[in-house]
Amino acid sequence: MSDRFSKLHSSVQYLKGVGPRRAEALERLGVRSARDLLFHVPHRYEDASTVTPIAEVKVGDDVTVVGHVKSKGVIPTRRGLRIFEATIRDASGSSIDISWPGQPFLDRTIQRGDLLLATGPVRYFHGLQIQPREFVVLGREDEEAEGGGAGRVLPIYPATEGLSQKMVRTIVEQNLEALIAALEVEEGEPIPTPLLEPLGLPPLPAALRLLHHPETLDEAESGRRRLAFGELLFLQLLHARAHRQATLERPGIAFRRTDELIAALYRRLPFQLTDAQQRALREILEDMTSPRRMNRLLQGDVGSGKTIVALFAMLLAVESGHQAALMAPTEILAEQHARTLRALLGDLPVGVELLTGRMPSAERRAAEARIASGEARLVVGTHALIQEGVRFARLGLAVIDEQHRFGVRQRLALAGQAEGDPDVLVMSATPIPRSLALTLHGDLDLSVLDERPPGRKPVRTQLRSEKHREAIYMFVANQVRLGRQAFIVFPIIEESETLDLRSATAEFEALRDGVLRDARVSLLHGQMPGDAKDRTMRSFAAREIDVLVATTVVEVGIDVPNASVMVIEHGERFGLSQLHQLRGRVGRGADESWCIVIGDGAPETLARLDVFTRTDDGFVIAEEDLRLRGMGDLFGARQHGLPAFRFFDPLCDLDLLTHARELARSIIEVDPGLARPEHEAMRTVLEARYGDRLKMFETG
Ligand code: ADP
Ligand code: MG
Repeated sequence: MSDRFSKLHSSVQYLKGVGPRRAEALERLGVRSARDLLFHVPHRYEDASTVTPIAEVKVGDDVTVVGHVKSKGVIPTRRGLRIFEATIRDASGSSIDISWPGQPFLDRTIQRGDLLLATGPVRYFHGLQIQPREFVVLGREDEEAEGGGAGRVLPIYPATEGLSQKMVRTIVEQNLEALIAALEVEEGEPIPTPLLEPLGLPPLPAALRLLHHPETLDEAESGRRRLAFGELLFLQLLHARAHRQATLERPGIAFRRTDELIAALYRRLPFQLTDAQQRALREILEDMTSPRRMNRLLQGDVGSGKTIVALFAMLLAVESGHQAALMAPTEILAEQHARTLRALLGDLPVGVELLTGRMPSAERRAAEARIASGEARLVVGTHALIQEGVRFARLGLAVIDEQHRFGVRQRLALAGQAEGDPDVLVMSATPIPRSLALTLHGDLDLSVLDERPPGRKPVRTQLRSEKHREAIYMFVANQVRLGRQAFIVFPIIEESETLDLRSATAEFEALRDGVLRDARVSLLHGQMPGDAKDRTMRSFAAREIDVLVATTVVEVGIDVPNASVMVIEHGERFGLSQLHQLRGRVGRGADESWCIVIGDGAPETLARLDVFTRTDDGFVIAEEDLRLRGMGDLFGARQHGLPAFRFFDPLCDLDLLTHARELARSIIEVDPGLARPEHEAMRTVLEARYGDRLKMFETG
């Protein structure tokens, strides 16, 4: 292809109606080649179904109207503000004023006779008036009647300075058919059409035509779904390949259940496993006893009881003659796990070996020797477990807690500390909707704990404004007097880290010397050296500190049952899932506890925070986060190197996702290297899209 002329890959500049100046502007939109322009699709549409006839517009509504400009002008006000105003009239015969305070320059953009679309709230000011959030000139009187006609859908394109969305639309319209023809010739539909048909999805060229030039909104939607499906399928093919490599192409261990330890632990348990725990455990044990290798994610909200599930899995490995290891992201968490496991195991004949970087070197070497000889059968540790020099004699199961705290490489490293290929169980307390979990972790099988053990008091959550701050701190002081502990958390946002830190520090000093002067108050933040952080955290856990003023470093699963209050400052600056993680730090004891969010901001912000106060279900919260902030923002999504999806919408394309995942797995099962002729085009796309992550295909 490279030595042949490619219309698609030539510069956009040479297309009809473009030229060097517009090409420069298009480049700002990420459009360089002709192909890019074809994929530069509208970000939304307007049609009769979304436009309100002016005759029906009412004060207080938020509307989109379309009409011809009957008159216009700049109106000076007494306060010196210059307002541009246009009056439009639509087919219903009614008129309405559109007003742009402070934007007199629009007088040059908007002309009498223009067909104008405007969106915004309606208010009353010498008659009905709209102050638009957005507007577009859909057509000029002196042009061919374009758009606006009854029933026609108007695509609205992303635009940029010097290139209005209308210019983009015109350029696309002039070139669309030629570009689609070029796509047919040069690339065609990479996904075999028999795979698309059952889903009712059009082939790629047709889908692009529907996106750019739909007759109805449904057509545009069907085009979008085809592109979303492509995004999903190729990612899932990548995952399916990784999954196959991790599970089938390596010799797995078929663990043998003797029940020597598992049954004994079961009898000892002071509680009944929840249904969700039993289900997850069944999935895990089944996976482990099968000859294929396990590569599984155990996902559950804070407090859903993942540790005990992991312990059962570890005991299966141990009773079957292997070692099992649990890796936690911090020393405190590792020590906490070791304590918990020891307490759960009681007098069962299996000890817990702890290995952290903080241990004196002689002790550490002794532990390493027991790990290497196989004497230590159940090992808990930190990153120290994946340091050079640590070798396991017979590691059968590697469990990774709070997996989002580790990079992919570190996750793989634990499994690599052994000769063979141990089974892998990763655990995550970031409850993400199933759709997103499958997108992010398509290479893993998924078990979900969607239920919490009974009997826990919910944390009482309240949203308060700045003016309640004094009262809130009095409440904290009072809790301290009653012998309880509290967290006060400040946001740290990367770009203004020093500024934020200064405000947290200043606030800390003010509290320490003011309303909390009778309490022992300490500051904890991410820029402190690791051992100082560690010391502070330990003192808090040991109840030597009453109030911990902290940045979000307290987010990870530390367990201080005596802490009863979590105050979160500037709640509006946190994502809901992050707030939920913070809330999970309290309510771990038997007593009542509170999470108080101090937040101010626009009504939308407060509404968002209100969702948080009304539910304690991490999955609901994550879903809401996803809806409001999109996927890229969701906690943890970025670390996964998740590709930026342009078309996939995790909230409404769940069916596509499920199909894509199943389809990808079945394709990879029969043709792991995508070597069959009908898969060749998919292989090409996959290599173009994920080349760097695809080295493995060379051996496939
Ligand atoms: P997480 O999923 O956040 O890691 P943990 O495993 O730390 O949760 O469990 C939280 C608490 O709930 C622990 O104190 C644990 O002993 C307790 N727990 C776990 N499972 C149950 C259960 N089925 N019934 C009652 N308590 C349970
Ligand atoms: Mg945990």
